[in-house]
Amino acid sequence: MKKSLFPKFISILLLICASGWIGYAFYTRNVHYRETRFLFDTEVYIEAHGWEAKQAGLQVLDRMGDLDAKLNKFKAGSELDKINQAAGQQPVEVSDLTFEVIAQSLQIAETTGGAFDPTVGPLMALWGFGSQEKQTVPSNKEISEYLKLVGYQKVILDQANKTVYLTRKGMMLDLGAIAKGYAVDQAVQILKEHNISSALVSAGGNIYTIGRRTNGSPWQIGIRDPASKEKIVGYIQLENQAIDTSGDYERFFWANGKKYSHIIDPRTGYPAQGVSGCTVIMPQAAQADAFATAAFVLGVDKGLDLIEEDNSPGVMIDSQGQMVLSSKMKELLIK
Ligand code: ADP
Ligand code: MG
Repeated sequence: MKKSLFPKFISILLLICASGWIGYAFYTRNVHYRETRFLFDTEVYIEAHGWEAKQAGLQVLDRMGDLDAKLNKFKAGSELDKINQAAGQQPVEVSDLTFEVIAQSLQIAETTGGAFDPTVGPLMALWGFGSQEKQTVPSNKEISEYLKLVGYQKVILDQANKTVYLTRKGMMLDLGAIAKGYAVDQAVQILKEHNISSALVSAGGNIYTIGRRTNGSPWQIGIRDPASKEKIVGYIQLENQAIDTSGDYERFFWANGKKYSHIIDPRTGYPAQGVSGCTVIMPQAAQADAFATAAFVLGVDKGLDLIEEDNSPGVMIDSQGQMVLSSKMKELLIK
């Protein structure tokens, strides 16, 4: 009797251990990580699901915090501030991440014919879209003076030494239309390294989704109606893609019956007119961020041409509320 009890005891013990392990495995596989932070002067949200969701999520927030500290032009001592302070004097050595985002921004400036241009900084300050938000309409003379300090061709990058040089005193880099997207791309890279197969990352409306939601249904992203905070013009199902919107409804001011928004046409020196909202979907968030701004600057017709040339889904809504869709977007937008 006693002899036969022992193996039975062992097997029960093994069974308990095994079910405990399976239970633990099941539990960790379904780790759900959700967190909101205030970074890049906006709300950043991440949700990730999977074995390593928590470690991945924490690493993502670390990286995004680091990028915010490096790329904020208003933060004294940030890498961007150092570059701007040294304008017209000397090249500044920067980290790999900062170098990469600046290189990418100059490339997109070229592709968009300068509609997106990260050297728009002095014009932002002139129009009062600075940290103080005291906006005024400058004189034509001031605008033409400041335009001399704008132009992506006036930036010199040295790949070997990782330096950035703004060749004229007074020049100022402003990565406001690409930094959030770039941070989202970095987040996605980290999540993928941790084998996360279901996640959503958003930095002030720059959104990327990995895979599908945990219940297997697709992530659905609404496209806001520029005329009303509560309304959407439709929604799309987003899987392993980035979406971003540039709009004239968050940072703007009125003067002489005209609405001036925070997106400036670097070619004229004036805030872009005619578009109220522009949304694009692209494989990368930095690209989507910058292209949405570029299309906004180009206006409905040329903006849509840019989106079509790239064969991307895009929506443009003009100041009268008229909506036009690129051919790819016609297949995607659910009203
Ligand atoms: P937001 O970041 O407000 O969602 P955008 O992505 O369009 O909107 O970025 C707008 C920001 O980009 C501005 O606040 C400014 O910092 C910068 N910016 C403005 N005009 C341009 C431009 N033509 N090219 C590049 N950056 C711009
Ligand atoms: Mg953008």
